[in-house]
Amino acid sequence: MIPSGFEYHRPSDLPAAVKILDEHGDEARVLAGGHSIIPMMKLRMADLSHLIDLQDVASLKEVSVSGDTITIGAMVTQAELIGNDALAKAAPILREAALQIADPQVRYVGTIGGNVANGDPGNDMPGLMQCLDATYVLYGSDGEREVDAREFYEAAYMTARADNEILTHIKIKATTAGYAYEKQKRKIGDYATAAAAVLIEQSGGKVTSASIAMTNLSDTPIHSVGAGDALVGTACDAAAINAAIAAMQVDIQPNEDNRGPIEFKRHVAATMLRRAIERAWSRA
Ligand SMILES: Cc1cc2nc3c(=O)[nH]c(=O)nc-3n(C[C@H](O)[C@H](O)[C@H](O)COP(=O)(O)OP(=O)(O)OC[C@H]3O[C@@H](n4cnc5c(N)ncnc54)[C@H](O)[C@@H]3O)c2cc1C
Repeated sequence: MIPSGFEYHRPSDLPAAVKILDEHGDEARVLAGGHSIIPMMKLRMADLSHLIDLQDVASLKEVSVSGDTITIGAMVTQAELIGNDALAKAAPILREAALQIADPQVRYVGTIGGNVANGDPGNDMPGLMQCLDATYVLYGSDGEREVDAREFYEAAYMTARADNEILTHIKIKATTAGYAYEKQKRKIGDYATAAAAVLIEQSGGKVTSASIAMTNLSDTPIHSVGAGDALVGTACDAAAINAAIAAMQVDIQPNEDNRGPIEFKRHVAATMLRRAIERAWSRA
């Protein structure tokens, strides 16, 4: 199918983009890589009169690693994220997770901002951002504000972003913790049936901190505080990993769909988390 007609805008700065959003309200959306919004328009699941392409807003393509603060512009593509050695050094889990998104064709065009702003429970970056405790910077006609990624997701496709706000940057603290992103999918290039992001810090053979988040196992990404807590103070042995998995199971709420029934998804979630914890621990 082809989408219904719309007006295409290509502003060169943020104030101009926000002005168009303000003028057209719910009829307008920003366009990043277009790999989520264009298919929705083609399927007539989204009917928009105005698309505001962010391609020419140069500030949204900036990446910086300064001290222990990583800042990534919303229009940085998944391929650019993977190719950036400074980012891979400062938070290697970013590259590991981004490499598991779709396929190279999608990653050359899809952006980190579009991935996290969309609010699709299937997207990989929102769960990763919970694990990293990232901060989202939003810009609107009232100026700039920051929202914790862990507070951003309200329901499927519903976020704390107002209709007239643009997500400009993502801020992350650099981390040398042991890391892993484990994802199970039905076929190459697919969204996750279940995925787990894990960061573990250790001292003297004991876990000193652990951050665990799950993807596509609820309407929103799940940061499982209980799962992380179950590992802290342990030697990350089998009993501790089982306790973390049990705590994660309490926090997720998978739905039955074409990726399988609820019981199967819970089984896959457990397997992904076990693998991710074991790999993160081996790197801690
Ligand atoms: C075949 C295929 C397979 C895929 N597989 C995966 C996968 O395995 N894992 C995964 O995570 N993703 C997957 N995706 C999604 C892909 O990564 C998307 O590109 C991504 O989710 C959205 O990014 P985008 O830049 O294309 O955003 P767009 O499609 O341009 O935008 C998506 C939504 O976010 C809004 N938006 C975009 N940028 C901003 C911003 N800066 N501020 C405010 N709102 C904004 C738009 O208005 C729109 O509503 C897949 C896509 C395809 C086509």
